[in-house]
Amino acid sequence: MAIEKTLCILKPDAVKAGNIGNIIAHIQKEGFKIQAMKLARLSDRSAGKFYEVHKERPFYGSLVEFMSSGACVPIALEKENAIAEWRRVIGATDPAEAADGTIRKLYATSKGENAVHGSDSVENGLREIAFFFTEAEIAELGL
Ligand code: ADP
Ligand code: MG
Repeated sequence: MAIEKTLCILKPDAVKAGNIGNIIAHIQKEGFKIQAMKLARLSDRSAGKFYEVHKERPFYGSLVEFMSSGACVPIALEKENAIAEWRRVIGATDPAEAADGTIRKLYATSKGENAVHGSDSVENGLREIAFFFTEAEIAELGL
């Protein structure tokens, strides 16, 4: 299977709850390689831009407000089949529907405040990583 990249974001709820370390440990236990990582604080404008695909959805306003409400930790991850693998590890969008042992089951509190982001396609993963990281900030690990 192909090596892929995906963008993870530890969302403001996870950062506020003190779960950065727990979730990074989970990421490493699942065999993902960290290519880039930083602490960031999104403005309203940049959160709106990141989630532009959801602009017409009823939850867009609250999503933008939540994502700009505190610090977050974007992390570029690399692994075989990373897009599907990371979505398996994080679980369903709504923690009430997420499988046992998934990150959202363990750390999310609601469908909106659901601890982590995961890209939904290879193409979007690359676009989302480039949204947060310059070429010089990405460690090319050559897996
Ligand atoms: P995912 O993050 O699992 O890919 P989506 O791409 O559908 O989910 O939605 C992006 C984010 O928007 C979700 O992670 C969640 O934070 C928020 N969201 C999605 N659906 C809802 C909803 N019905 N109510 C509130 N927030 C939502
Ligand atoms: Mg999505």
